[in-house]
Amino acid sequence: MIWLLVCPVCDAAHEPHERFCADCGVPLTFVKDNTSESTRRARKVKPGYADGPLVRVATARHQAEAEMIQNLLLEEGIPSLARRTGGFDVPDFLAAGPRDIVVAASAEETAREILGDRRDDGPQLPPHRHPTWIRALAVTLSVLTLAAFASSVLLPFT
Ligand SMILES: [Zn+2]
Repeated sequence: MIWLLVCPVCDAAHEPHERFCADCGVPLTFVKDNTSESTRRARKVKPGYADGPLVRVATARHQAEAEMIQNLLLEEGIPSLARRTGGFDVPDFLAAGPRDIVVAASAEETAREILGDRRDDGPQLPPHRHPTWIRALAVTLSVLTLAAFASSVLLPFT
């Protein structure tokens, strides 16, 4: 389950450290994210990465690789387009054929860094996020350990 920090007035999503809506000035609230995948994608996009003419930052060998690269960029807030590479006369409905990955000029440098890293390290798995219950368990265990430690230190003196 995904929780979002949003403005109750304009419904804009905000970063976890923010407390008030930048536009409306009202306190933000947590809501369960029931929005569609496309809305969530749109919210991930950072406005600063959408300026300037489109530039090619990568070439994917096929549709699936294009989507993987686009997701990688989106994780950093960079919106991108996959275009059929010029000169390849493949019908549009086919998933085959290379794609140019293009981003706005303002995102080019960051996009190249992201994709460059990926190439150097080989295929990367998405960052692993521990589910909430594991974190809760870890906190509980550390509290119990502290309590046990405290009682073993303090009890001889009582
Ligand atoms: Zn607002």
